[in-house]
Amino acid sequence: MPHRLTGGQPIHVLIVDDDTGSRLLMRRALERSGFVISEAADGNAAVAAVEAGECHAVLMDVEMPTMNGYEACRAIRSRPGGNHLPIMMVTGRDDVASINQSYQAGATDFLAKPINWNLLGHRVQYLVRGGRLVQEVEESEARQRAMLDALPDLLLVVDMYDRIVDRLGATENHPFLQGGVKHEQKISELVSGDAARAITHALDDCRVRNERTELEFEAFRDGVERRFETRIVPYDKGRLLVVLRDVTERHRANNRIRELAFFDPLTQLPNRQYLLQLLEEARREAAATGERFAVVRINLDNFKRINDSIGHGAGDALLQAVALRLGTFLKLERDGAVTMPLARLTNDEFAVAIRHLQSDADVQNVVTNVVAAFASPYMIRHRDFFVSCTLGIAIFPDHGGFADELLRTAGLALQEARAGGSNRGVVYSEHMRARSVARLELETELRRALEQNELFLAYQPQIEVASGRIASVEALVRWRHPTRGIVPPDEFIPIAEESGLIVQLSDLVMRQALKQISEWWKAGCRDLRVAVNVSGAQFEAPGFPDWVFAHLDEAGLPGACLELEITESLLMVDEAAAALAVRAVRELGVHVAIDDFGTGYSSLAYLKHFPIEALKIDRSFVADLGRDSNDAAICAAIIAMGRQLGLKIVAEGVESAEQLQFLATHGCTLAQGFYIARPVEAPEMTRLLRIGEKDSAPLIEVPARKGALDVPLADYEADLLLKVAKK
Ligand code: C2E
Ligand code: MG
Ligand code: MG
Repeated sequence: MPHRLTGGQPIHVLIVDDDTGSRLLMRRALERSGFVISEAADGNAAVAAVEAGECHAVLMDVEMPTMNGYEACRAIRSRPGGNHLPIMMVTGRDDVASINQSYQAGATDFLAKPINWNLLGHRVQYLVRGGRLVQEVEESEARQRAMLDALPDLLLVVDMYDRIVDRLGATENHPFLQGGVKHEQKISELVSGDAARAITHALDDCRVRNERTELEFEAFRDGVERRFETRIVPYDKGRLLVVLRDVTERHRANNRIRELAFFDPLTQLPNRQYLLQLLEEARREAAATGERFAVVRINLDNFKRINDSIGHGAGDALLQAVALRLGTFLKLERDGAVTMPLARLTNDEFAVAIRHLQSDADVQNVVTNVVAAFASPYMIRHRDFFVSCTLGIAIFPDHGGFADELLRTAGLALQEARAGGSNRGVVYSEHMRARSVARLELETELRRALEQNELFLAYQPQIEVASGRIASVEALVRWRHPTRGIVPPDEFIPIAEESGLIVQLSDLVMRQALKQISEWWKAGCRDLRVAVNVSGAQFEAPGFPDWVFAHLDEAGLPGACLELEITESLLMVDEAAAALAVRAVRELGVHVAIDDFGTGYSSLAYLKHFPIEALKIDRSFVADLGRDSNDAAICAAIIAMGRQLGLKIVAEGVESAEQLQFLATHGCTLAQGFYIARPVEAPEMTRLLRIGEKDSAPLIEVPARKGALDVPLADYEADLLLKVAKK
């Protein structure tokens, strides 16, 4: 049976021998077995024949005159494609030296003379097959190597002493090997500290369990910390294959994702998601130890308005400044309780947890620290902003067993705190839940009330203290509720502000007040003004002066018939913008008064910057006149200071003859209060105005003042008194 290749082709053998007779004998023997034969008479001819074409094997005589067999073999091996060609040396000597020489020259096999002609065909057949197998293995190895090279992984083979004995894969540029490897270096010697210990441990682990082990570790390469993902698998003969992948970038990306998911990008503080985790941690710990912890929610008052008026860029800067300062102030803690990292919960709200509460004083301490962070103004873009805050507090386990529940109850406490004024903290209590439901109901009802005209105005006169005559009337909104009766504004104005209904409500009040003053003017009260209360949301909206103008225009009235009452805290939020707005309405002829003076920042010196006409002393100071000497001193101070600034001073909430007398004695310009007249509806007010009467008689006899007018106080004395009063 003829010897053929797997594809069915005959096998082509080149016979190289200088002896013609030998060539002939071999040709005969091989042709009989089905081989195709070509011949060469010396080494040179052999090399040329191999280069020229198809030849599956070579039988090479050693002794030849011009180029011997060894040389020819070497020459063939060095030619392209020549390294796999099976070459069998035909030697007369089967001594060890010539056999070695044959192999050294690159021969595949050797055949010693005398030749067994019957077996020659088989020998050549095996020679070709062996050659092909070797070639296949080599090709397959090359493919595997190429594949390994294409992988981003570095593969290290380590022996039972953890020494690196081989390297595969991306050995060239792999960052793990950047420092180079010494002979028999241990893999753990290429890293340091924790990473070295972790690797040694993982290698041992893989040996013991004889299964794949994984770990990740970090190592510095070129001064940069890189992260390597590592898999270790049993290899052979007790050796292990360590596959290392550089996952630094992936790890960074994961961290970035985590950052985005758990941190607020503006302030870099933990966000709500992260806070919930921190709280959950605190909860588990507290549940185990039986300790208590608190959740404190911190809301910036009026932030939305500040943001709308100063622009979002400056608003962001303010939030960052607040975050920074709050963080610092929160660290001012006492022993025992531990303040957790500050988190940003929403746009204008922060939150912090306090672990290991020892007593209620710990909570109070945090409230004090937080409030202190808002005591001085924030300087944003060269302007000072006064910001205040309110705090809502919930305590584990009393106010909730879980993180989200605690946040909710702290939120309810916060709502309660906001209703009661700024810079204070309120701890949750059970009744707040019911109240929050009631608030929500009230909002729905207020919406309906606005549509169904349930709101109306009451008017309360302000008299000149000197003459007792009515100088102006304050318009005060009321709600005639179908079942509850008359609801006072304190109960629904905050809800209107929060829900945005304040816009509609303010329009209604302004329109109604102007319509009414127009009627009174037509009836002859030419000097009368109507005072309208301005809410923060309106005042800080950019088009506020235009809004006032549009209403005057619609009513066909001059600005002089209108007075706007603005609380001092509104002016303080953004001083520059407030000054612009006040000036713009002043240009319309509208009067501006500061309402509830004394309850806010109360800097008289500061008010010099605003072109205002009047100060209304808050009724809390007036109420205690005669009883509290401190309040009396403050009232006297405000009156004296106001007079020095050329302002009219209005005392609110005058309820007795003594109070009126005190005010008269100290030179207060105007007074308003139940003692003079309660807020009444328009027809009753018309009657009080005594329209049509010849000389407008005083509404009330003002008690004669006691002694001479008080000596005015100096600036600093007044401010000092106010500061004392606020403590
Ligand atoms: P305010 O501007 O300080 O108004 C004076 C408040 O003091 C009025 O309460 C008035 O009824 C009350 N008052 C007057 N004299 C006395 C007195 O002798 N003793 C006592 N105890 N109280 C007296 P009211 O009408 O309940 O209004 C409360 C607040 O609601 C107002 O305080 C004002 O800030 C706000 N408000 C009222 N109407 C409006 C409005 O139309 N728009 C806005 N934005 N706020 C309004
Ligand atoms: Mg008022
Ligand atoms: Mg007031």
